[in-house]
Formats: sequence, C-alpha cells, structure tokens
Amino acid sequence: MTSATARQAVTATLETMKQRVPAYRELVDRFGPLFLGRAELYDQLTAMAPPPPEVDGAKLAAGAPVLAGADLAPWLPLFQTSAKTLLPRLISVLHLDKAAGEALAALPADPPLLSGLAQARIEGNWKFFEDTSVKLETVSAGILLFVSESILSPALTVLADSLGEPLARHSWNQGHCPVCGSSPSIAFLSFKESTGLDHLVSGGGKKYLHCSLCGHEWRVKRNACAACGNDDSETREILTVEGVGNERIEACRKCNTYCLSIDMRECDPPPQLDVAQMGLIHLDIFAHQNKLTPITRTLWNSFDG
Ligand SMILES: [Zn+2]
Ligand SMILES: [Zn+2]
Repeated sequence: MTSATARQAVTATLETMKQRVPAYRELVDRFGPLFLGRAELYDQLTAMAPPPPEVDGAKLAAGAPVLAGADLAPWLPLFQTSAKTLLPRLISVLHLDKAAGEALAALPADPPLLSGLAQARIEGNWKFFEDTSVKLETVSAGILLFVSESILSPALTVLADSLGEPLARHSWNQGHCPVCGSSPSIAFLSFKESTGLDHLVSGGGKKYLHCSLCGHEWRVKRNACAACGNDDSETREILTVEGVGNERIEACRKCNTYCLSIDMRECDPPPQLDVAQMGLIHLDIFAHQNKLTPITRTLWNSFDG
C-alpha cells in the first residue's frame, strides 16, 4: 500500500456511499477529511518506521498478540507525527469546544501521556482513559479513546504491515488481532482472486476479520463467532436488509454479540473497510433493535451514550 492507493480507496468508498444512500451524505462530508488524513500519513510514517517488533511463535501459539508486553517507545515519533497531523481535523470533525481542543492539541508535546494512551489502548486499560479524562477535565473518556485510536491507528497500520512474512508464517485462529490484540470492527468474505496459474481464478469467499485498531486482516473459520468461538448453526444467524445481501449481520445468540460482514465477491472495487462501516449504521440499528451488542464499539454503533 501507498498513501496514493490508500487515498484512492478511501475516496472511492466515500463516493459510493454518498451515491448509494443520500442519507449518509452529511456523515461522508463531515468524516471524509479524517479518513483521508489517515490515508495520507501512510508514506510519511512508513519512512519513519523503526525495525518491526519481534514475532515470537511461542507467544502467538499461546494466543498472545505481537504487541503484548512490547516496548512501543521506538514508535512514539510516529504517534507524535500522526497526532500533529490529525488533531486539527479531529477537533473540527468532532465539533469539540475550545477547552477540549486546547487540551488535546497539547498531546504531541506530551510524550509520557501519548505513550501512556498507546500502552493503555493496547492493554485494554479503559480505566487509564477515565482517569486521564478526569485529569484533563474538558475531554470525556469516550472522546479521548476515539481521538487516541484515530492517532494510533495509522502508525499501527504501518507497524502491522511491516511484520509481513514472519507473522504470516504462524497460524492464528483467534477472534482478536494477532498484532495488537484488538477485536475486529468488521468481517469480510474474500474476493475472487487470481491463483497465479493461467486463467485460474479462485472463488474467494474465505472469511477474514479486520482489526478495529491496526487494520490487520486475518483468516478465521467461516462459521464461528468471532467473540466466543461458537460454531453451532442453531445459535448463529445471518441477518440482512432486503435487497442488500452482501452486507450482513453475523449474530451469535450464545453470547448475544454481532459482527458486520461484507461479501467482497459482490464488490467492485472492494471498499475501504474502515470507511465502509460508517455506511452500515442502518445494520447496526437493526442489530440493536434485535438486542445484540457489537463485538467492538465504534463511533458508528454506540447508541446509548
Ligand atoms: Zn490489530
Ligand atoms: Zn458468540
């Protein structure tokens, strides 16, 4: 990937969304600059990237992601660059008031706090966000989390991409990301792809999960719940909205969670998955009405504050 291809994918997905569902136009115009800003950082952050962290096979075999216990200090300059670029857009997109904006704008110049937020997000230490929000006084824990994720995400995408073959060598069938440990924000069935043999095209349809933080994608069993591993067809169901069969809700009645899923075999060109989620809020509302909880809370699926 390059910034140019990332930007192109974001632009195409935003355009499709606007044309298909006019009700999403306002969201596209509001959040589009943020997605584009994240895409544009890719080349700059790649050029700054330190050597990738070590991929420890024993750790992965035990279900622990690459970044569990890893030292993120070498990545701090990337988090700072990302923060400097994205904070003005975040403050505007989220319509934050002056006091909140000023508190957040000070983040790039506060390495201990920035590293603390990164570490806390990787460890799933939500209390750190609550405590920091109390200290800052002007920024809610929810906003602080969203802002931190937006800043960390482009740098962690570069990190995940840098792991390449050493990571691909290991099998991983967990419902959380092998790189950063986050839960997936969306699932997809792979598109048709050339097999490398003359004129042979594989049918696709393999199931992958897309990490909500670093964007890494990993293959999983198609019929299993990403949250609890349940593969009993009696307690798993696929919900769709009439006329749009390739976008669905994969629901599990055992743990009452759901994960949205896109069948890429019916998408040309394939959508940029972080952006695509914004255009599926109608599915999140439908799942909410069906008493299901999202596997990962995002800005697009949190309806109760
Ligand atoms: Zn991840
Ligand atoms: Zn489940």
